[in-house]
Amino acid sequence: MEQSILTELKNAAKKSLKARHNDLADNHRQLEILNGGLFADGELPYFKDKIAETNQFPLKPNTLEILQINVGYMCNQVCEHCHVDAGPDRKEIMTRETMEQCLEVIRNTGAHTLDLTGGAPEMNPNFRWFVEEASKAGIKDFIVRSNLTIILANKKYQDLPEFFKKHNVHVVSSMPHYTRGKTDKQRGDGVFDKSIKALQMLNAVGYGMPDSSLRLDLVYNPSGAFLPSDQAALEHDFKKALKEDFDIDFHNLFAITNLPISRFLDYLIASENYEDYMYALVDAYNPAAVSNVMCTNTISVGWDGWLYDCDFNQMLDLKVASTVKHIKDYNEDLLNDRDIVISQHCYGCTAGAGSSCQGSVA
Ligand code: SF4
Ligand code: SF4
Repeated sequence: MEQSILTELKNAAKKSLKARHNDLADNHRQLEILNGGLFADGELPYFKDKIAETNQFPLKPNTLEILQINVGYMCNQVCEHCHVDAGPDRKEIMTRETMEQCLEVIRNTGAHTLDLTGGAPEMNPNFRWFVEEASKAGIKDFIVRSNLTIILANKKYQDLPEFFKKHNVHVVSSMPHYTRGKTDKQRGDGVFDKSIKALQMLNAVGYGMPDSSLRLDLVYNPSGAFLPSDQAALEHDFKKALKEDFDIDFHNLFAITNLPISRFLDYLIASENYEDYMYALVDAYNPAAVSNVMCTNTISVGWDGWLYDCDFNQMLDLKVASTVKHIKDYNEDLLNDRDIVISQHCYGCTAGAGSSCQGSVA
């Protein structure tokens, strides 16, 4: 790629698409791209037609297992490939009132996993209160997606490892690579060093240690327009490098495919990789992955309480196809009866071994 394009992307990436008034901040524009071009021309099959070949259309949920709640799009980072288009300039934050509605659902859900995400969820001013209240509900697996650098972003966050430990939170953190260059390229200058320090702080209170019940998992996503390699091999390489270089332990590594939405879609188009990437996703389509994609066992709650099949649909404002569309009206039985809303971005979840927020699915 030309140096000028790289510089342009790097500078632009310091702000969200929304703050830059980029037309891809509009979900309609993203859907227009995903539904048009190669797919409208018939060069590639629509996702719904592809899954219909194996009688998997309409896509239906299985038993609900995971309630994923996005508490806001504000973040201390502006990563190049962020599917949330998060950043310090995003002001969408879940209110305490919506959190109360979520707590009511958390206390009564059949889901065994609660997954808090953002942005940087810790930046929501009611984050700690929400975690304290939610942890009382006795959910089996309580995940917080922490970007690691938030722990060092301000003094008020430095006790987060202890706070997570106190509430037996399962920490899941993005770490695009075990080398400084690749991590900083995707997530910003200085992110690697701060992430390493944060991992050491988590290890110091017991997170990620071999026999510890304090779970610490990492998430890898590719730093360019290519699909992730084998998850087990990546985990082996990450474990070896982080242990040898920094004496860091963690439990599992999830390898995630970048979905062609939001800032990654912007990157694909700006670097003239969009068409090749869509061909690669469709080429790698694996019908066996369809029945295990995240939306089949998850409900995603937006910062304003609207309900979605997954965090990706949330960013495209594709609300659930159900009479129940908001957390205040939550009804698990009715939601379990819905058809899942799909589009061409879904090819990102069914490529190769498949991928979701929990890594490989097939
Ligand atoms: S840390 Fe996560 S939420 Fe924040 S900008 Fe990066 S990818 Fe997006
Ligand atoms: S993008 Fe969302 S709706 Fe589409 S397959 Fe993936 S998890 Fe399901």
